[in-house]
Amino acid sequence: MKISFHKVELKKRFPLAISRGIRYHSENIFVRFEKDGLIGWGEAAPGDTEGASTPEAVQQALEEFVATGIEGYSIQALYDRAREMKTPPCAYVGLDIALWDWTAKKAQMPLYQLLGFPKAHTPTSVTIGINPPEVVKERIPLIMEGSSIKSLKIKLGAPDGIEADKAMFEQVLESAKNYAVKIRVDANGGWDVSQAKHMMQWLADRGVDYIEQPLKEGEEAHLKELYDQRPLPIYVDESCRFCENIPHFAAHVDGVNMKLMKCGGITEALRIIATARAHGLKTMIGCMSESSVAIAAAAALTGGIDHIDLDSHYNLAPDPSNGAPMVDGVTLPPDVPGHGAELKQEFYAGY
Ligand SMILES: [Mg+2]
Repeated sequence: MKISFHKVELKKRFPLAISRGIRYHSENIFVRFEKDGLIGWGEAAPGDTEGASTPEAVQQALEEFVATGIEGYSIQALYDRAREMKTPPCAYVGLDIALWDWTAKKAQMPLYQLLGFPKAHTPTSVTIGINPPEVVKERIPLIMEGSSIKSLKIKLGAPDGIEADKAMFEQVLESAKNYAVKIRVDANGGWDVSQAKHMMQWLADRGVDYIEQPLKEGEEAHLKELYDQRPLPIYVDESCRFCENIPHFAAHVDGVNMKLMKCGGITEALRIIATARAHGLKTMIGCMSESSVAIAAAAALTGGIDHIDLDSHYNLAPDPSNGAPMVDGVTLPPDVPGHGAELKQEFYAGY
């Protein structure tokens, strides 16, 4: 067995602004796990709110974990050990994805088949960050041109308040009216209860599908005030990290958004799907700042998930990995053994 870590810069085509700040680029750690002549690829994206904020912290956490010995243990047992060791999930995810990719390659099956899911078939949302209306007006045609995008996820919860949200959203409707797209909104916890009540009705009146994370992480007790008589389905994202979070708010949401970088990988995502279903909730899967490797791994689950938001790699220039193209609106990795993606060789030249 041979394992190596590769730091790669991800440059964004368009900077992404959400309620908490703006991102222009990031550096992710790619994990290359080699055994029996097969290579499994994983990817980990550092996150300020995810327990490891730099690529160096991610790599150190992975090295410390691997040093405890991984040969001869199941993927499930290794994940449980990582949680016991408090390895940040946004670091451990790199190893978890690489192990699942390797296992599927060993079984000579696409990862989605190994996991028992149908092939990806639900179109992904593509995200529009917080921007002034004039930028939205320019950006939407650029993003839509020549693409098969079927839905847009609009980031609201602007630091400038709900009037800025409304001005941006009116422009979105105007600019998107010539395209047949569904529109959903993610506030990233940018509203208080009364703003959220007001905005949910305002957005429902304008044909929005659902609202995501209307209140800040930690304010789950207030979701009840929004849930009764809600005009739109409510999903939580930041509030849902692991499967054990779900029972605490299950009675007051319609669904949960999982992300591999938040939960630590495919292993925990499977537990989140099962837990959400046991509570009668819908599921969604999203992404952080990720290339095709982490996106393809997430796409292996999408045949069993209701709403898909796997689009960060479309906003990279260039994407250092390949293997998660958009096909008729669906993020659809190729039908090959494993998750279907890998880091392009020029990004780890000299290895
Ligand atoms: Mg979100």
